[in-house]
Amino acid sequence: MVRHWDGEIATLQDVVRAHRMLWGLCRHCGHSARIDPRSIAFRYGALDLAALRARLRCIRCKSAGRAAIVIDDRVWPGMH
Ligand SMILES: [Zn+2]
Repeated sequence: MVRHWDGEIATLQDVVRAHRMLWGLCRHCGHSARIDPRSIAFRYGALDLAALRARLRCIRCKSAGRAAIVIDDRVWPGMH
């Protein structure tokens, strides 16, 4: 597998550089949603992932601050 970014992924901009998607998981109701880091990096800038996790709010159960963030293993399609 071609790796585009071997550095530590700590911020939203790192996620964009690594060409990864994020998954937001709600630890309250189990809802999961794929998050395109490009769309939220535009809004939040170089936010670190811990701060992002604290800001996420579940669209199903409306819980805030109960999220977990997972970095998808795959790079974006068409970016090789
Ligand atoms: Zn939820």
